[in-house]
Amino acid sequence: MPQPTSTLIQLFREIVSVRYAKKAAIMWRDRILAGETQNLADVLGRGTPTTTHDPVCIHSLGIHMVCPHHFTVSFGHANIAYIPGDRMVGFGRLSALAHAATARIILQEDATASIADTLMETLGCRAAACVIKAEHPCHRLSHPSAHRSTATTQAVRGPASLQRTLRALLAQQS
Ligand SMILES: [Zn+2]
Repeated sequence: MPQPTSTLIQLFREIVSVRYAKKAAIMWRDRILAGETQNLADVLGRGTPTTTHDPVCIHSLGIHMVCPHHFTVSFGHANIAYIPGDRMVGFGRLSALAHAATARIILQEDATASIADTLMETLGCRAAACVIKAEHPCHRLSHPSAHRSTATTQAVRGPASLQRTLRALLAQQS
C-alpha cells in the first residue's frame, strides 16, 4: 500500500505534467517565489545621504509567503519603520524589500527578521522594525479553532529608546 504522501505527490505530478506544467512553473518562478533569486541588500540599495533622523514608517504593504513545512501560500501585509542613520531610501525600495523578503519559501518569523536586519546592515539605520500579519492556510486547515487566525510577527533592532519610538509608530495604524 503506497504511503499517503507519495500518493499525493504522484497525483500532483500527474495533474501538472498533463496540462499545466509550464503554466504552473512560470507562476511559481515569476510570482510566488520571485524573491528567491533576489538579494535583499541589492533590492534595498544604499539610498541617498540625509541629515534628518526622524522616523519613517510605511504601512500595509501586501505580501505573500510559502510555508516551508506545508508548501501553502499565505497572504498578509507588512509594516516597516526605521530611523535613518546617514542615508535613507524611497518608499518604493521598502515595498521592493518587503516583496523580495517574503516571496520565498520562508517562515514568517524569518522574513520579518530579515527585513529589519537588512535595513540595519545595508542602510546603516539607527533603528529598524518590521511587523508582518498574515493568514496561513496550513494552520487554519490543521486546527479548526484557527480558521480565522492571523499570525503577527515583529522584529525590532537598535537601542531600546529608539525601539520604543518605532514600536509606538507601528502601533498607531496596525
Ligand atoms: Zn505551514
